[in-house]
Amino acid sequence: MIVETLSLESWRNVQAAEVEFDPGLTLFTGPNAQGKTNLLEAVFLLATGRSHRTSRPEELIAFQRPQAYLRARIQRSSGEYQLTARVEGGRVTRQREGKLFRRGQDPLGDFAAVLFAPEDLLALKGAPADRRRLLDLDVGQASVAYRQAHVRYGQVLRQRNALLRTYERPPKELLATWDAAWAQAAVALTHERHRLIERLAPHFSARSGEIAGGAPASLSYEPSLKASDPTAALSLLAELREDELRRRTSLLGPHRDDLKAEIDGRDLRLYGSQGEQRTVLVAFKLAAVSLLGEGPGGPPVLLLDDVLSELDQDRRRNLLLAATGTQTIVTTTESALAGMQPGMTYAVRDGDYVRTW
Ligand code: ATP
Ligand code: MG
Repeated sequence: MIVETLSLESWRNVQAAEVEFDPGLTLFTGPNAQGKTNLLEAVFLLATGRSHRTSRPEELIAFQRPQAYLRARIQRSSGEYQLTARVEGGRVTRQREGKLFRRGQDPLGDFAAVLFAPEDLLALKGAPADRRRLLDLDVGQASVAYRQAHVRYGQVLRQRNALLRTYERPPKELLATWDAAWAQAAVALTHERHRLIERLAPHFSARSGEIAGGAPASLSYEPSLKASDPTAALSLLAELREDELRRRTSLLGPHRDDLKAEIDGRDLRLYGSQGEQRTVLVAFKLAAVSLLGEGPGGPPVLLLDDVLSELDQDRRRNLLLAATGTQTIVTTTESALAGMQPGMTYAVRDGDYVRTW
């Protein structure tokens, strides 16, 4: 799939802009704080319904404006269509050819994007939440069942945590209801995560071997909940009852999952060198591209936000080489990046995108 054009209205620091993209590589250059990341964030939101850097949609609307609006033309092998997103009143709504679809329910492979930003490079050694985010945002687009299970679990968890926060001793029946809902949703999401990571892992190993040229890295899932059905999940939960009532929050379930990357049995979360961290993240993003590329829509759009300057020559070359055949949109503060041959280049100034090539 390819995004051909994008128009933005009242989106962050962009008042109104129209941008056309090359089917290969498009480059956006400019100083800090001009609107480079804002543009990639817009493309990513069209794909996922979410921003990669905030969970509060109201931040996306330009100051003093009531709403933000994005409109893109997407080209697929089956033809072209219009995809729009409106941000208003703290909500994001997307439409395909004027027809509404809800988050987590968009047709698989309709329009997908993988975004790679410098802060991702910290995820390997960061908190488990950082590693889960990688999975949820990028890779989650490969499975409708995953996205639905993720949305559902988030809803149940919020309700259950609210209950634990509100009462020192929640009413028994109410707690039992939310325990049961939690068990269903937690088992479902754990199951979907197993499946998704199983699909991603071979791509990840292959890519990491290519990039580093040494022993490939492996990826595995460390679920918080080790139960394969809701009944087993409930009995594990019962063991934590007193702890949960004391700490007034949910202590078990996919919101505490982790991902592990290893080389030769060495846990890279603990022992990864700087270079290994970069290799792992590049491999992870490329693995996401490969996995999503297996879907009916073909390769996703790859969004590289100021990340090439963080990589050495070899990793940069391997990343761009591996992305051949994938529409790629790159931002950078450097005026020229060695080894790149963009089809189109833009200068970014104060929320304006001016074509220079
Ligand atoms: P850098 O190279 O530092 O990453 P950038 O070009 O990627 O810079 P952006 O993150 O795209 O910069 O942000 C550009 C500007 O948008 C920032 O100055 C920011 O303050 C502004 N901005 C963010 N949200 C809004 C908003 N809702 N309304 C108006 N301006 C906003
Ligand atoms: Mg930026």
